[in-house]
This record gives sequence, C-alpha cells and structure tokens, in this order.
Amino acid sequence: MEKVVVDSERCLRCGLCVGTAPDTFDYGEDGESVVKNDTVTEQVREVVDMCPVAAISIVEDNTEEEKTEE
Ligand code: SF4
Repeated sequence: MEKVVVDSERCLRCGLCVGTAPDTFDYGEDGESVVKNDTVTEQVREVVDMCPVAAISIVEDNTEEEKTEE
C-alpha cells in the first residue's frame, strides 16, 4: 500500500500542503509540515507536485507484507 511522507527537515514551512490537503497535513511544533493521516488521496498527489522543495513523497508501505511473513 502507498502512503505519504514528508521530509520535515527540507520543508520551507510555506503552508501550501496544509492549506491544500488539511486532512492529510498539519503543522508541527516549529511550523513544519507533518503527516497526520498518511492515506494517499488525489489532493495528496497534487501537492506532491506543488511543494516548492519536493519534500513530500508517496512511498510503498511494506509493513503489512512483512507482517504476513512467518
Ligand atoms: S508544501 Fe512543501 S515546503 Fe510547503 S509546507 Fe508543505 S512540505 Fe513544507
């Protein structure tokens, strides 16, 4: 399954992702973007391209596959 991640170190704190997809992103303690819900939505796909420093990525989450392996 895919999930969204943010590189908070790289984030410029422009607020664009939080404003565009408030169900997914929120502000962290220092105003950086943090993911509060990692579900990949259409809005998330849009902000991946919009972020000025490409701090947002969609990655493959293999956690569930690992769980099924004995
Ligand atoms: S769009 Fe990018 S730079 Fe702007 S707040 Fe979101 S992660 Fe940070």
